[in-house]
Amino acid sequence: MKIKSVRARVFEWKGKTVSPQGNFCSNAMDLLYAPQETMSTFRFHSWTVVEIETDDGIVGLGNVALAPAIAKAIIDQYLAPLVIGQDPWDYEYLWQRMYRATHAWGRKGVTMAAISAVDLAIWDILGKSVNKPVFKLLGGRTKEKIPCYYSKLYRTDLNEMQAEAQKFLDQGFTAFKMRFGYGPAHLQKGVAENLKSVEAVREVIGYDNDLMLECYMGWNLEYAKRMLPKLEKFQPRWLEEPVIADDIDGYAELNQLTSIPISGGEHEFSLYGFKQLLDRKAVSVVQYDTNRVGGITAAHKINALCEAYSVPVIPHAGQMHNYHLTMSTLASPMSEYFPMHDVEVGNELFYYIFDGEPVAENGFVQLDDHKPGLGLTLKTEYLKDFNIVE
Ligand SMILES: [Mg+2]
Repeated sequence: MKIKSVRARVFEWKGKTVSPQGNFCSNAMDLLYAPQETMSTFRFHSWTVVEIETDDGIVGLGNVALAPAIAKAIIDQYLAPLVIGQDPWDYEYLWQRMYRATHAWGRKGVTMAAISAVDLAIWDILGKSVNKPVFKLLGGRTKEKIPCYYSKLYRTDLNEMQAEAQKFLDQGFTAFKMRFGYGPAHLQKGVAENLKSVEAVREVIGYDNDLMLECYMGWNLEYAKRMLPKLEKFQPRWLEEPVIADDIDGYAELNQLTSIPISGGEHEFSLYGFKQLLDRKAVSVVQYDTNRVGGITAAHKINALCEAYSVPVIPHAGQMHNYHLTMSTLASPMSEYFPMHDVEVGNELFYYIFDGEPVAENGFVQLDDHKPGLGLTLKTEYLKDFNIVE
């Protein structure tokens, strides 16, 4: 079996959207004077879909959500020529080939995301070629089904947040992640608003359920050091990405500061990036996304590293490319779960592009033993709502 062609297309959403409000979620731009760029302008409304075809007619699907048009250009110009004509079973060789050939300017960020998409499509081919789901190629089931946590609860009116938490509590979820709306620029009033929102969600879900807190890099070290002791009484399962991804010392300091575990890795890349985080005890929960970190070839190695460090891996975003690794890895106790809803930030686009993404039931997702590869196909229902760039 040889790779015959690589096709990367950008799916740009042009359908109906819902506009997030200004304090929807703190983020890295909050610390900069840029009043026109609130969270309401913060969107990921396009996605790159990669289809790799083999000479025996198997098509593997990969995807990348970071800087889609640039990822497509990297795949078209640099990565496709490195894998065409090659045997997809040589996945480690091909990964190293892509990583080393682009190393002078690649390594992390959008290049690694582009490599991830090609690697995902290769693993999809491997599964399809032996008629097995990818999690079987990675070692099989380590759990009957995957527990997942409800991940939305962006900062809106507190009554609305409580109604949202109640709705998904009633659907059987036992773990919830909420977003802070305020950071250092909002001074003491923002501190009070942040605490009020956590209190409001805890009031609904109680203390028998898990609560995760998300900062999305919208705080700085000084602000996080002030907030953490105040948040301890709410017993969060973790506090996510309090500072920007490059401030590893900041993560390490915060992770030792209180009883609250610090999580991160959603914006970290490659085996080396995670070794650094783990060596420094910078995070207590690892949250890579397989479509950024280097694909399944890289994520599988990071899982082994996390197992040795006894640090749980709970990948960013759920989604099929992550579920297969979570299913096959004992170090992964659960998954994130973005519910399907109207297109807002853009995480939900996955449901509009692909068929096969599992829907949570009673707080669990299930993978099919009989669906080969990643188990995804391209959805036709919403094709008219995308502008597709070849
Ligand atoms: Mg996150």
